[in-house]
Amino acid sequence: MKVIWWIRRDLRLRDHATLHAALRHGDVVPVFVRDPNLGGAISARRQSFLWEALTNLNADLRTKGSRLIFRSGTPEAVLTQLLRETGATAIFAEEDYTPYARRRDEQIAKALPLKLVQGQLVHHPMAALKADGTPYTVFTPFSKNWRALLPPTLDILPAPERMPAVPAKIKSEDIPASEPNPLFPASEAEAQKRLRRFTTETTENAENLKENSVNSMRSAVKIYQYADNRDRVDLDGTASISPYLHFGILGLRDAVHNARQAISHARDAESRKSAETWLNELIWRAFYIHILFHFPHVRDGSFRPEYDRIEWVNDPDEFSAWKAGRTGYPIVDAAMRQLRETGWVHNRARMIVASFLVKDLLIDWRWGERWFMENLLDGDLAANNGGWQWTAGVGTDAAPYFRIFNPILQSKKFDPNGDYIWRWVPELAHLDAKDIHAPWERKVNLRGYPQPIVDHKFARQRTLDAYKKVKSSA
Ligand SMILES: Cc1cc2nc3c(=O)[nH]c(=O)nc-3n(C[C@H](O)[C@H](O)[C@H](O)COP(=O)(O)OP(=O)(O)OC[C@H]3O[C@@H](n4cnc5c(N)ncnc54)[C@H](O)[C@@H]3O)c2cc1C
Repeated sequence: MKVIWWIRRDLRLRDHATLHAALRHGDVVPVFVRDPNLGGAISARRQSFLWEALTNLNADLRTKGSRLIFRSGTPEAVLTQLLRETGATAIFAEEDYTPYARRRDEQIAKALPLKLVQGQLVHHPMAALKADGTPYTVFTPFSKNWRALLPPTLDILPAPERMPAVPAKIKSEDIPASEPNPLFPASEAEAQKRLRRFTTETTENAENLKENSVNSMRSAVKIYQYADNRDRVDLDGTASISPYLHFGILGLRDAVHNARQAISHARDAESRKSAETWLNELIWRAFYIHILFHFPHVRDGSFRPEYDRIEWVNDPDEFSAWKAGRTGYPIVDAAMRQLRETGWVHNRARMIVASFLVKDLLIDWRWGERWFMENLLDGDLAANNGGWQWTAGVGTDAAPYFRIFNPILQSKKFDPNGDYIWRWVPELAHLDAKDIHAPWERKVNLRGYPQPIVDHKFARQRTLDAYKKVKSSA
């Protein structure tokens, strides 16, 4: 008996409950459908990453004796056709929680034998609710409950040893050509390498950082340095796995499993706390998926609707300067240029530029959210929307609106030597660490670099007034 494994955002073989369920049921035919409805939602950079990941998944499937069937069209039409061609009796797919995916799957399940299996999250959004059955809207209690629901160990399923051959008569289109991404090679082997490197391997960098420490070698593993280094935009102190999580090239359960292993192997309280901090970030990812699932209105507006009445300035020239990395604030410009050139930005730098757009330029956070989605390699509706709403102070667990980042202090604190700015803003390469964070104050030659487009003190007050106005009229 044949069954279809419909691959969507689960491009992996390891820890794949859906694939294992399908294999138990019959001879699996792996299928990817190029859905024309998704074309507009995915940037060229992410699209290329996806094609590369599918090409590599196909190579992995071939080593197991199988292969990928790639077809274009609406999922319902393609799957109906494939059921006919293969004689398959069921379609197995990993459950996805975005509003689009839920609508699509509901429709398809009415017409075709679709079996959704959990695997994208550790706990289903309907399983992690408050005692009264309503969803959490605040992170800390959500995370406590999320942890309490964990079984003692997450049994990680290995990749299948072999898979059944797909009959030659089932034809596949060619997977579109992709530009290999040198910063983020799109394969499961790479995702696993990054996870292992971050959670278990001693790195030279980490060894140097801890060389005078009394701690053991274990403390030189990056996860044990995370609490100290994660906010430094000039260091490579995070796992760099978000594009892999987004496409399910790496499973969240696997990452959580590795975090817990690291917690239990920690030799000192500081290391343990650091690994706990990383686990907490993975829970943030789950939290934003949970928020989007239960409160789909956040896709289009603020979680707290009163903030949709803020009177934004929305100056198009200032928005262009922000996008181009020409605001005159070096830390903001460094991050915006890095985003455009590579599709990648450190979390702290995302917070700094997001805060600058919303709180210093008083531009609608949704403009920034859209620009990020168009440019980020890890662009993810739930995480990106959550990050923007948090920074704008309009979301669930919002940072209070009166807490406004000072871009100069952020720069001094999280890029203390100016290394990150030097790398991305070459016009300022002639400046030393004391001049680089706010060069206009130091009266140095700017060599074509712009003056600040806004005065932070003025902008701060303007934002406080705009937010207060909607709060007092709520
Ligand atoms: C304005 C803004 C927009 C963002 N947009 C996205 C996005 O589109 N896609 C995306 O994956 N992340 C987004 N983030 C969250 C975060 O910046 C990235 O997940 C992180 O930088 C990825 O790097 P890493 O894999 O090295 O993370 P690590 O620090 O190693 O953390 C491990 C994993 O935890 C999760 N995580 C970490 N921080 C957060 C967070 N604040 N919110 C949710 N999950 C988190 C991610 O899946 C990450 O891969 C955004 C944050 C902000 C402030």
